[in-house]
Amino acid sequence: MDIKITKTTSPKTKPTGPLGFGKIFTDHMFVMEYTEGKGWHDAEIVPYQNLSLAPSAMVFHYGQEMFEGLKAYKGADGKTRLFRPEMNAKRTNASNERLCIPELPVEYFVEAVKAVVKVDEDWIPTEPGTSLYIRPFIIATDEFLGVAPSKTYKFIIILSPSGAYYASGLAPVGIWIEDEYVRAVKGGMGFAKTGGNYAASLIAQVKAHDDGYSQVLWLDGVERKYIEEVGAMNIFFKIDGKIVTPMLNGSILPGITRNSVIQLCKSWGLEVEERKISVDELLDAQKNGKLEEVFGTGTAAVISPVGKLRYCNDVMTINGGEIGPVSQKIYDSITGIQNGTVEDTFGWITEVK
Ligand SMILES: *Cc1c(COP(=O)(O)O)cnc(C)c1O
Repeated sequence: MDIKITKTTSPKTKPTGPLGFGKIFTDHMFVMEYTEGKGWHDAEIVPYQNLSLAPSAMVFHYGQEMFEGLKAYKGADGKTRLFRPEMNAKRTNASNERLCIPELPVEYFVEAVKAVVKVDEDWIPTEPGTSLYIRPFIIATDEFLGVAPSKTYKFIIILSPSGAYYASGLAPVGIWIEDEYVRAVKGGMGFAKTGGNYAASLIAQVKAHDDGYSQVLWLDGVERKYIEEVGAMNIFFKIDGKIVTPMLNGSILPGITRNSVIQLCKSWGLEVEERKISVDELLDAQKNGKLEEVFGTGTAAVISPVGKLRYCNDVMTINGGEIGPVSQKIYDSITGIQNGTVEDTFGWITEVK
């Protein structure tokens, strides 16, 4: 893939204060076009800028779009590392297939990510816990109000330096088990990373926030009985010594962190079960003192310990509201591999050179 690079003539001043998440963008972005009959073409890195799209562009009307999320980490050794980027590339194509977006070759995706990160490498923050968040996405661009797959698309990658998720240690969060709204059903697009799933989730998130909970835990869309996942994280439980997580059933996003946590726990000799988990099972385990740890997994936070779980009139406090030992060990291992301080025995790291 040939990438034409046009560098900015007016670089922005880099932020000095707290970075937060998703509000600051680097100097450059990657853009590539798709045209039916021609395939993916005109890969470019250009100064970060607004897009020019017709108001009739299809993405605005029927939501044909997908996105990904990964990070670049700068180690104390000065190396820039990506965590399993080929997994994001493969998941892109799983999302694309569901959304009738043309396939994007895995090597194009990985090459594009590496190239744009390289150009903006000096934007990667170096404070402990910070990283460069990478947001690849594809939008449908045909000027057409008919309902059909678009014949043209844009693949874009933007970069955002992001602060440490946890300012002072891994603070457990309160989670709201949603009993009214649902996010996805089997046969729908829950397994795809697409804006529509998030649009459907906002109303419950607002409700949970109003009640003092930071995230929503979704139940299955049919019986509202089985645990699916958190807003932007997969969910894990430690019940009676075993690690348990909902199996991938078509309505859950197959998280790369989820997959990594399963592999890590198995490598430590822990028993891991991927299966259906009902809310009743959790309530029972809690009553019997067997619900030992609960944590979310995702690229943004790696591990998000859950200290409190609310379901209707029940509020479960997990591990006294403190982070559990397995959650902490997973967090330390994965962040260590990402920063280059823990040996990458799984071959998860791709260096940006
Ligand atoms: C991105 C995402 C996750 C986490 O996936 P990772 O690959 O681990 O970052 C979980 N659930 C949803 C709905 C997501 O969009």
